[in-house]
Amino acid sequence: MSSKLNYLTGGGEMGELTRNYDWASHPLGAINTWPPLLLSTVGTILKSKFPMFLWWGSQFYQFYNDAYRTSLGISGKHPHALGQRGEDCWTETWPVIKPLIDRVLYDNEGCWFEDQMIPVYRNGSLENCYWTFSYSPLIDLDGSTAGVLVVCQETTEKVQLLNQLQAANLTLQRSQALIERQNHELKSFLTHNPGGVCILQGDDLVYTFVNDNYQQLFPDRQLLGRSVFKVFPELESQQLHNNILHVYQTGKSFTVNEQLFILPNANGEPSEHYYNFTMQAKVSSQGKIDGVLAFVYEVTQAVLARQREKELENRFRFVIDTMPQQVWICDATGKVVYVNAKVCENYGVDAHTLIESGLNYFVHPDDIGGVLEKWNQSLANGTAFTEVLRLRFADGEYRWHLSVAVPYEEDGMIKQWIGTNTDIDKQKANERKKDEFLSIASHELKTPLTTTKAFIQLAKKSFEQDSDQIWKFLVKSEEQTDRLLRLINDLLDVSKINAGNVVYNKTPFSFTQSLKHTVESMAQISRIHHITLQSNCDIDFNGDRDRLEQVFINLINNAIKYSPNGGEIIVRCEKEGQNIIVSVQDFGIGIAEDNLERLFDRFYRIDNSSLKFQGLGLGLYIVADIIKRHGGSFWIESEPNKGSTFSFLLPLNGRQELLDIDTDGRTYYHGSFVNIDFNAKENYIHVDWLGYQNYDSVTKGCSIMLSLMKASRCYRILNDNTRVSGNWSEASDWGAKVWFPQMAQAGLAKFAWIYSPSTFSRISSNKSVPQNYEGVDLQFFDDVAAAKKWLLCANALPVN
Ligand code: ADP
Repeated sequence: MSSKLNYLTGGGEMGELTRNYDWASHPLGAINTWPPLLLSTVGTILKSKFPMFLWWGSQFYQFYNDAYRTSLGISGKHPHALGQRGEDCWTETWPVIKPLIDRVLYDNEGCWFEDQMIPVYRNGSLENCYWTFSYSPLIDLDGSTAGVLVVCQETTEKVQLLNQLQAANLTLQRSQALIERQNHELKSFLTHNPGGVCILQGDDLVYTFVNDNYQQLFPDRQLLGRSVFKVFPELESQQLHNNILHVYQTGKSFTVNEQLFILPNANGEPSEHYYNFTMQAKVSSQGKIDGVLAFVYEVTQAVLARQREKELENRFRFVIDTMPQQVWICDATGKVVYVNAKVCENYGVDAHTLIESGLNYFVHPDDIGGVLEKWNQSLANGTAFTEVLRLRFADGEYRWHLSVAVPYEEDGMIKQWIGTNTDIDKQKANERKKDEFLSIASHELKTPLTTTKAFIQLAKKSFEQDSDQIWKFLVKSEEQTDRLLRLINDLLDVSKINAGNVVYNKTPFSFTQSLKHTVESMAQISRIHHITLQSNCDIDFNGDRDRLEQVFINLINNAIKYSPNGGEIIVRCEKEGQNIIVSVQDFGIGIAEDNLERLFDRFYRIDNSSLKFQGLGLGLYIVADIIKRHGGSFWIESEPNKGSTFSFLLPLNGRQELLDIDTDGRTYYHGSFVNIDFNAKENYIHVDWLGYQNYDSVTKGCSIMLSLMKASRCYRILNDNTRVSGNWSEASDWGAKVWFPQMAQAGLAKFAWIYSPSTFSRISSNKSVPQNYEGVDLQFFDDVAAAKKWLLCANALPVN
């Protein structure tokens, strides 16, 4: 017995258990009854340090060693598995194991399994365990198979590790694929980006990637492999280099819109380019900034298009703002959204306030009802609006306007109303004047006719009694017929002047005699006036004698008519140089300054005199035409209640002489009518107007002033009119519209205008400058010293 137990010595825990097992109660019987094969095999197993297991006999009784025991877990099959039947022990896996055992038994051959999964119930649960094992038949001496020896090793951990490794590998592969796809997508995104994209790498910021769009922005430059600083040396002065470096050094992104860069074009000429661009730091996988990524969009076309649009808009606004009409725009509901400069100027209110308040406030209370009714109809029906209405201007006066508004449609929908208000006050006034004229004319023509008729009736009644009486009536009738004839002649003259059909028969005649004769015959007309001629010369003149006598008659007639209380009327005639100067002075009602300048207009009659005095308002108009046609000019001095002096000048040779005396074309001009001198020391130009001025003298003198200002590059002017004797206001319109704007444009900075003592000339001066002029400092003065002091004062703009 003990000798048999010797087979089973050692073997650790399992050796112990096997030896102490109650084999006697087991079908295998006590150890000493065991066959030698079993004994030697169990002994070998127990001593082996490699996991081993044995199924013995037809019931597959089990033996295993310490190395195997660990695979059975802490709680589970161990230690019952010892001596247990295979089928009872491995109930959960027997269907897997048994066929393998049967194959060994049947083939009498061993078999080998690597990392085979065989679930084992252990540690309180069924675990998926992996095994590498060999089943080998245990052959007895008689050649029969006595059992199956299992040499095995649990590889669960290895398999699990392997599985984890495979999973990790798979994840890695997937990640790599993902990165590759993303890389591909990124590259495709950068390549096909509608803007230019580039990557600048390293401290030198070398181009390592540029897409086609980027390269096309700079077609003639080699980019890849070169530092941005070398590619664009010209941008160093344009701050770009510093900006790129800043992004690279700080990691702070940099975005600029519509940045202008001057780059040479294909011909090497500098051309303007506008870019939107963003630069951001490029960060390496180690988290360090290793370059700069730039996205660039050239927006030159868009910027230029917008600039052009803006220019067009500015031009459009300029046109609208300089229009003489009020222009306003309403939205579809009729709310004002825009007014031009004229509207603001007329109402004396800024655009913002007008847009807030609307324009109804300025419509005359008697017109507003009708205007609103029509306007609402237009808004409702989408039909054009037209109305004649009165609008109140900043000076509180109402002026007649024609208001028109038309709808502006887009896609069949009214978007806006574009409206204009055209000042028709003059036309209205003219209409009124025409009506007045017709009624005055009818009255004027009717009076002599009815008077004549009355005298004829009286003559008829006296026919058989008193021939003296008849004679008186006939004389009176003749006087009235003459008056009628004069009125009709005046009317005919005016229509001839307008049609340009007046024929002037110029012949030499004694001007002084003709004047003397007229004064003498006119002196008979009124008993309450004393008309005298003061003349110490005898002048011959080449002109239309009848027409010039008409001038004398009209002026003396007016002097009589407008001094109803009688008194002196002084007619003066003298020769000054090559001119005849005539004046007619009365001490009658006089004329206010405001009315002076329109006196020579057709049908113009001063309101307060028109009701009291006979007349059609044609006399002075005809006078003006006759004087102009003789190359002359005219002017008036007058004061209300003190009287008036009407003067005219006739050049003896048919044209007022404008003699050039001396000029260097640059610093001075001396002429018969003006002296212009550039004072280099005090840096101003002195313009000294001399004597009688007319359209020709004013336009000539002003043009010389402009060219000397440009030539001497001196932009301060002392415009001295103190020595002007008379002036013809027709040049003032030219001054305001043509000459002064040219002066302003040429750089005129300061302009001191000294008035002439002549009121008429003073009016011309005020009219000779436009109401709005920018950049010119202008002031009117009465005396030269004050004007010069102002012109040369310290705050004067620098000249030259
Ligand atoms: P008429 O005398 O027929 O009205 P004129 O053309 O001769 O027409 O004169 C135009 C206006 O000028 C007159 O209506 C008058 O108001 C004013 N006027 C003309 N001469 C004088 C004068 N000597 N004194 C005051 N007012 C005058």
